[in-house]
Amino acid sequence: MSTAPALMPAAFLGHGSPMNAIEENRYTAAWRAFGEAVPRPRAVLVVSAHWYTNATAVTVMPQPRTIHDFYGFPQELFDVQYPAPGLPGLVDEVSEAVRPTWVGADGDSWGIDHGTWSVLRHAFPRADVPVVQLSINADQPLSYHFDLGRRLAPLRETGVLVVGSGNVVHNLRGLDPRQPERGFAWAERFDDSARELMTETPEAALDLLGHRDYGYAVPTPDHFIPLLYLAGLAAEAGRGTDVLVDGYSFGSLSMTAYTLDVNCPDGGGSGPAAGMPEGVPAEGTNA
Ligand code: ZN
Repeated sequence: MSTAPALMPAAFLGHGSPMNAIEENRYTAAWRAFGEAVPRPRAVLVVSAHWYTNATAVTVMPQPRTIHDFYGFPQELFDVQYPAPGLPGLVDEVSEAVRPTWVGADGDSWGIDHGTWSVLRHAFPRADVPVVQLSINADQPLSYHFDLGRRLAPLRETGVLVVGSGNVVHNLRGLDPRQPERGFAWAERFDDSARELMTETPEAALDLLGHRDYGYAVPTPDHFIPLLYLAGLAAEAGRGTDVLVDGYSFGSLSMTAYTLDVNCPDGGGSGPAAGMPEGVPAEGTNA
């Protein structure tokens, strides 16, 4: 009798403001607890809201650069480096898993963006686990991303930790600085529906596209799509996900995070999610 390989967990983390990278609060404590609860991964494959491009591609640099893809933030944030190595061979495994979908190998354009390092800095503070990013192909329908998530499932059997980084509700124009820990009614309705699907019937996650509040909650799909990768993985596993931490930030952001196949203790942190500097978001802030 052979022992079945241990199945690596997977997650979706709501990253919120880039300032969460350098602050400590309830959410960053939960991300840290998640990193401590998972078995040591061979690599982290991150689907970040901030690599939203016109192809499906995987980073292949041995030493990916830290990208500071925002402006209007304090120098302290621009000084952050996340020097995790890459894993150049992972692109072949991803290609094999999702065939016949074509996967590009990106050796020189991307690296590790803030959607990735703002959460991994807490989950894996030593930056010693190899990090590879999988781009979001903006030309494809949302069903493509759910399906791609499903097909990444075999990677979990070989020690790859798949992490989506975005926000279930992400409406930068709707941010209200007067309510740092509250959500608007429409944000709560959408987040509640997402929770029901993610925890009970992840195979039906695409039903959210027909939700009455979809237009407010998901004015652009970049931050929502990473959730669909975890939904696909959960659907493939035949299990619902667990809520790692939940809450709202400035009315129009949901910080809710989900995990699959890991018992994660309470992170024990306190305090609201990080805010935005004055004047942010401005057009092109890219938070
Ligand atoms: Zn973001």
